Order: sequence, then C-alpha cells, then structure tokens
Amino acid sequence: MFGEPILAKQYVQFKLTELSAELDMLRTYNHVIAERYEAGEDTTRQATIAKLTAGRLIRKIADECLQFHGGIGYVEENWTARFFRDNRLTSIGGGADEVMLQVLARLDGFTA
Ligand SMILES: Cc1cc2nc3c(=O)[nH]c(=O)nc-3n(C[C@H](O)[C@H](O)[C@H](O)COP(=O)(O)OP(=O)(O)OC[C@H]3O[C@@H](n4cnc5c(N)ncnc54)[C@H](O)[C@@H]3O)c2cc1C
Repeated sequence: MFGEPILAKQYVQFKLTELSAELDMLRTYNHVIAERYEAGEDTTRQATIAKLTAGRLIRKIADECLQFHGGIGYVEENWTARFFRDNRLTSIGGGADEVMLQVLARLDGFTA
C-alpha cells in the first residue's frame, strides 16, 4: 500500500500481536485442561469454555486475515475466503456457541 507492505502499519502489527497473544492464552489453557483430563479430572466446564472461546477467536482471526488481504482476500481463489467460511463452522458444529453458553450457565448456576 503506497509503496510499502501493510505489515509496516503499526495498526496491523498490533492487531496481529493481539490475536497471537489471545491464541497463545487459549492454546496454553487447552494444554493445561488436556493434562487435567488425562489425570482423570472432570473438565466439562473447562472444555465448554475452550470450545466457545476457540470458535469465537478463530472467527476473529479469519475475519482480520481476510480484511488485511483486501479485495483479493474476499475472492474465492484466495485461501483467506476459504479460511473465513470454513472456520465459521466452529461456532456451530459440535454444539453452537449458544449451547455452550447454556451448558456453562447451568454449571455456574446462572439459571432462574
Ligand atoms: C460441515 C458440517 C459437518 C458436520 N459434521 C458432523 C459430524 O461429523 N457428526 C455430527 O454428529 N454432526 C455433524 N454436523 C452437525 C453439527 O454438529 C450441527 O450442525 C450442530 O450441532 C448444530 O446443530 P444444528 O445444525 O441442528 O443447529 P441448531 O441446534 O438447530 O441451532 C441453530 C442455531 O440456533 C441457535 N441455538 C441453538 N441452540 C440454542 C439455545 N439453546 N439458545 C439459543 N440459541 C440457540 C444457534 O444460533 C444455532 O446456531 C456437521 C455440520 C456441518 C455444517
């Protein structure tokens, strides 16, 4: 853009850093939960949180990737368009976000 890569823009650098940090937190959380599950602990609540959070984070990442690629990111020929569509499933498949929230609300006692 105007003779320089978009990665030269501080906004883009910060956005990618932010997403990378969020991804790192979730990955670490998942590893800890997997270890607890392996040790025989009931990790239903944590797995539900992970499923909900991962679905939302991947949608955010896919959306930003597409945005940073501009018009070419939107066309079907580019991986970003496929990535955007495919990852949309994470918040639906295997139980929609709302189902995860329903499970969590019940486990946390946020019910009337
Ligand atoms: C590409 C693909 C592959 C799949 N592969 C498999 C597979 O291999 N095995 C398998 O068993 N299934 C598979 N599925 C099915 C998948 O698990 C279901 O689509 C998923 O569980 C959601 O169910 P549903 O489509 O019936 O949506 P519904 O349950 O009808 O939900 C529709 C929408 O209603 C809303 N909603 C749902 N429940 C609530 C609630 N309690 N409160 C508020 N809003 C709510 C949500 O916004 C939700 O997205 C696949 C689906 C797709 C698209």
